[in-house]
Amino acid sequence: MSSRLSGIGMTSERTRTRMIERLRQQGIGDEGVLGVMQSVPRHIFVDEALASRAYEDSALPIGHGQTISQPFVVARMAELLRQGAELQRGAGKVLEVGTGCGYQAAVLARLFAEVYSVERIGELQARARKAARELRLLNLRFKHADGMLGLPEAAPFHGITVAAAGVQVPPALLEQLAVGGRLVMPVGGTEQALRIIDRGADGALHEQTLDAVRFVPLLAGTG
Ligand code: SAH
Repeated sequence: MSSRLSGIGMTSERTRTRMIERLRQQGIGDEGVLGVMQSVPRHIFVDEALASRAYEDSALPIGHGQTISQPFVVARMAELLRQGAELQRGAGKVLEVGTGCGYQAAVLARLFAEVYSVERIGELQARARKAARELRLLNLRFKHADGMLGLPEAAPFHGITVAAAGVQVPPALLEQLAVGGRLVMPVGGTEQALRIIDRGADGALHEQTLDAVRFVPLLAGTG
């Protein structure tokens, strides 16, 4: 086991339990999500200098002007995704756009059968890949690409989640959403809200707008 996984082991176990208690108080009720977030060591996804703050309920810098999402937001998006029709039925192919440090991807990989995560900044993607290897997440695949185009080679997806805010939902992502699939994504500019889009059995799209959120912007191309 690497030093990062064993080093602050006990402390992180306890602080992680406190993080889960806080998520419960904030209204996360999905025991599957809470159980997985109890098991994934969040501190290995941030710089060692920030590791002691990894379980605070805040976004933290990960370099390149990007952040690791707040635990509440990761939990909320995973919970909403799990309520999608096909994912509830046990189908489990999920796309995440915006890997960042890879924390949410790791959480998703422990919740769903097959997870693909796309990141436009190569160095972040490489770091996420390393952390996923440490955790032996064999059902998680990474790609350095513009996630606004989705991932046609692995489509369609039963779930799609985007960790960066767009002014609209990229059309390619809607095309790659399976029947019975659910997309969860922040939409907006200075004011953003979580948007849910479900593809019904008839193929039609059904939209809902939920919580106000704050994400980094979704950008085109690779960096
Ligand atoms: N999922 C992360 C949060 C990532 S922050 C977590 O677990 O904490 C959002 C990420 O989206 C950034 O790393 C940013 O580079 C990436 N991003 C922005 N636009 C993108 C695009 N078009 N394709 C892929 N990644 C994108």
